[in-house]
Amino acid sequence: MQPFELVTPAGVAEAIELGAAPGAVYLAGGTNVVDFLRTGAMSARTVVDIEVLPLRGVEFDGSRLRIGALARMSDVAAESVVRDRYRFIAQSLELSASAQLRNMASIGGNLLQRTRCPYFRDRDFPCNKRRPGSGCAALQGENRRHAVLGGSDCCVAAHASDLAVALVAAGAEVHVQGPAGERTMLLDTFYREPGSTPHIETSIDHGDLVVAVSVPALPGGGRSVYLKVRERASYEFALVSVAASAEVEDGVIGEARVALGGVATRPWRARETEAMLAGVALDDRAAMREAASAAFADARPLRDNTFKIELGTRAIVHALRQAGGVG
Ligand code: SF4
Repeated sequence: MQPFELVTPAGVAEAIELGAAPGAVYLAGGTNVVDFLRTGAMSARTVVDIEVLPLRGVEFDGSRLRIGALARMSDVAAESVVRDRYRFIAQSLELSASAQLRNMASIGGNLLQRTRCPYFRDRDFPCNKRRPGSGCAALQGENRRHAVLGGSDCCVAAHASDLAVALVAAGAEVHVQGPAGERTMLLDTFYREPGSTPHIETSIDHGDLVVAVSVPALPGGGRSVYLKVRERASYEFALVSVAASAEVEDGVIGEARVALGGVATRPWRARETEAMLAGVALDDRAAMREAASAAFADARPLRDNTFKIELGTRAIVHALRQAGGVG
């Protein structure tokens, strides 16, 4: 590991000043950044330890939930307002990583976690995300776990966060403070598809600090489900995941929200599916399946991951029926 200087700011303003310096990175729970510094997938001249910042609050004002970026995953999952009104957020947190990691990892760190593509971590292989212009080993290599949506000829790495999928389905916003001031953006627009620049993953700039996320109330009183399909029951990243919420009356869907994980290069809001679901009966399996299939209309499967299209389609139907109380 390359040597770096570790600094501790006295407050948010000083953190941003330190974080804006060339070669500086922020460190919160340390479950992701430390790993990458050790393996050489990331490098830093200065590590800004933001653990001390007062960004851990979880508040609900009756119409909007605000979660501080340094709140611990386990603490947020245990909040009664999250469990009652945003069930898929609590489930997405509980299905992420081990209990030990959830006690350490922060909400902001989870949203900014890097890909689990094995070639990204292994310096013996070309990887455009780690070293721009070097190539992508996954395109011709082992790509069972990679994306079928949102990929490019430069990168097909699947996004790793479960929480981000639930938050995108919920229409969450990200609150950022940085050298240029404060900004708020939809989480759905926060993440970038790789295109020709897969090393640029989000819309924030160097030195920007994610300080909170906020989530509007869900339609239908928060009936929602996070369904995660993985190869083993514990501590595994998703092959396919679905965050679904549905406003249902007499078995018929009014407004639905659907986002996908494990299948795309960023958390993937399935808006075509959502539009097709309005007015569909939960028991009309043909119409449910047709709507679910629309999410994969633009899919570009790789050699090893065509199965994700059928798996994802079935998972959407299953998650919606569960959210509607009939699954
Ligand atoms: Fe690197 Fe992306 Fe290719 Fe993986 S898929 S090797 S992260 S460029």
